[in-house]
Amino acid sequence: MDYTAVTHTTTDRRLGRLPSGRAVSVTVHRYVGSPGPTVYIQAAQHGIELNGPAALRRLHDRLTDAAIAGTVLVIPVVNQLAFDHRSYMTPGEYDVMNPNLNRVWPGDESGSLQEQFAARLWELVKDADAAVDLHTGTADMLEHVRCRAGDPAAERLAEAFGTSYRITDESEDTGDDGSGGTFRAAAAAAGIPVITAELSNSRRIAQDAVAAGVDGIQNLLREWAVLPAEPESKAAQTVLRNDAEPVTASESGLFECRPDIAVGDTVDAGERLGTVYEPSSFEQQQVVSATERGVIFSLAKESVVVKGERLAGIATPR
Ligand SMILES: [Zn+2]
Repeated sequence: MDYTAVTHTTTDRRLGRLPSGRAVSVTVHRYVGSPGPTVYIQAAQHGIELNGPAALRRLHDRLTDAAIAGTVLVIPVVNQLAFDHRSYMTPGEYDVMNPNLNRVWPGDESGSLQEQFAARLWELVKDADAAVDLHTGTADMLEHVRCRAGDPAAERLAEAFGTSYRITDESEDTGDDGSGGTFRAAAAAAGIPVITAELSNSRRIAQDAVAAGVDGIQNLLREWAVLPAEPESKAAQTVLRNDAEPVTASESGLFECRPDIAVGDTVDAGERLGTVYEPSSFEQQQVVSATERGVIFSLAKESVVVKGERLAGIATPR
């Protein structure tokens, strides 16, 4: 493989227009070297997920002085509307039909605003040889990478990314509400090896999660031979399946999590995780128990919960 010094350019890509006529566009960074694979990387589909953009700023510093074979496309803030509103999803004022950008992939150029956004971005994604979608969790989130089980290229990406945990699933439509249209599902359906990385928690910058993100991407680019160095061999990943029933609130109230449990802990089926109380009457509403034996990868810490809301996610050994 021939490696040449990176040429870096940025372009504003117009995605759609707001009711006033104002255009919405995103900044696309292109790092181009000699011929080789194209890797597409995006962050902040959800506006409060900040460790991804922070990791991509550090990646920029590493790539601008590098020699590469191929092209790296980076969009640090995919969902500008949600980001500027500091909200998880896009405010309904902009798109009453599809508030969650990560449910509309691969988009529709004549659809709702966010479907148009996704369709415009998909023009960049569809020819990529690998894709990475950076997220964080609103519930306390175990740092991990996700991919489809039994997809060798995606599992190779996930392993190279190198977080301590890899959570696999049979299909990629495993958003919190279980609905389809995730970026990962659409890319996988198009035959593009793809991973989602969950870089710790939302609304704040966690330096260790940011470091894990940028190191993970760098190692993945080495694995794909976009960067010349050999990939670093990382400690073996703990591989888990995302097939356990999520732990949900059966009643609304105030969730008090057991103080001695945290993401990354292994719990037994039926083990008590906490209690939902009615805060005014002090009445106990629900004893919250683990649905299966496994590792807790997400845990609700915003304690006001409504019936049906996820309190914990448990992944089981593969
Ligand atoms: Zn997200």
